[in-house]
Amino acid sequence: MIKAQKTIYLDHAATTYLDPAVKKSMDPFWLRQYGNPSSLHKKGIEAKDAIETSRKKIAELMGARPREIIFTAGGTESINLAIFGIARNAKKGSHIVTTKIEHHAVLRSVQALEQEGFKATYLDVDKQGFISIEQLQKSVGPETVLVSVMYANNEIGTIEPIAQIGKLVRFINHQRVKKNLPPIIFHTDACQAAGACDINVGHLGVDLMSVNGSKIYGPKQAGFLYVKNRVSLKPIIYGGGQENGLRSGTENVPGIIGLAKALELAQKGREKENIRLTNLQKYFTAQLFKKIPNIVLNGPVVELKNQYVQGSVARLANNINISIPGVDGEALVLYLDAKGILASTGSACSTGSLEPSHVLLAIGRSKNEVRGSLRFSMGKQTNKKDLDFVIKIIPSLVETLRKVDNPKNN
Ligand SMILES: *Cc1c(COP(=O)(O)O)cnc(C)c1O
Repeated sequence: MIKAQKTIYLDHAATTYLDPAVKKSMDPFWLRQYGNPSSLHKKGIEAKDAIETSRKKIAELMGARPREIIFTAGGTESINLAIFGIARNAKKGSHIVTTKIEHHAVLRSVQALEQEGFKATYLDVDKQGFISIEQLQKSVGPETVLVSVMYANNEIGTIEPIAQIGKLVRFINHQRVKKNLPPIIFHTDACQAAGACDINVGHLGVDLMSVNGSKIYGPKQAGFLYVKNRVSLKPIIYGGGQENGLRSGTENVPGIIGLAKALELAQKGREKENIRLTNLQKYFTAQLFKKIPNIVLNGPVVELKNQYVQGSVARLANNINISIPGVDGEALVLYLDAKGILASTGSACSTGSLEPSHVLLAIGRSKNEVRGSLRFSMGKQTNKKDLDFVIKIIPSLVETLRKVDNPKNN
């Protein structure tokens, strides 16, 4: 009998499977409770009640008010609503501050606004991917209307100091009141962070926060934007006026129910899961460095001694990103795929394009190191046995590919 090949999925930063409990929570809303939440009859009321219960649940998890949660069709749409929503209320020529390592949903939106006459500053990051609070402070001026800094990076796992940025923005806004300037709005893209980090908006001091379901074992094309009370946004989608006029269109009822359930499960389990993943991250990273010569770690240091204190290492616990100079990362991903190991090179979003990862370039990696980059992102089902299999397979693949790259090594 031929044994079916096992699939080891190490690409959870691209997307996760749907948690069976999330699927179960969504089940009634396909065939039975399919009403339109705007309808006045009982099927409408049933659906309306269900989405309002989800809104309340999400708000509670974030220390927010239910009406501050605006449901959207995923992370990209939440981010577009945040950025264009602020910009459309601001004068042309206004200024936006963001970073060089944002997801394309942020970068391309800000670039589009630049073409319309807005000004933008893209903050540098250090070798581990962290922005500098001082540079942020210096880059803000009277024309600044928006600061958008991602919570956790999707490629290298860097967790930015969001609470510190929140504090700085509040401090700046205090001074602006005296000068009669409107407050600067602070947005964070929390798509990679919502399953692993503290999302209490009071702790973070954010005005806008984008979250999606597809990275937290929830449904794809389901997301929300947290919009702090009194922050005024222009909609980007017009129509029937759903979601407080900010996001018209019949609500994705099953998606909303699943999103709330997924966020609840992720937030309740995150501390325990972070400890489990941190141990795997340390083990796997150490093994990779032991078994493959000449590799580089991308992103914040993984603490390899036994002194990890929860929260002290600002890196997503599920992320391991390395560069293997002399190897074509895409070829390696395909060879690994053939062995049942599913990983990624840089960011899934730029796969298929020949553009080198802007994140790896921003942390100072050479073209050769960017080309040889490999990202493993672990998940709830990842265990040590899976990682041991990867460690068994990968050294000889790397050796072969390095020979292809540089035949002199033969
Ligand atoms: C996945 C992701 C997005 C985009 O979310 P979609 O739900 O795919 O639109 C935005 N930002 C980050 C950091 C992401 O990881």
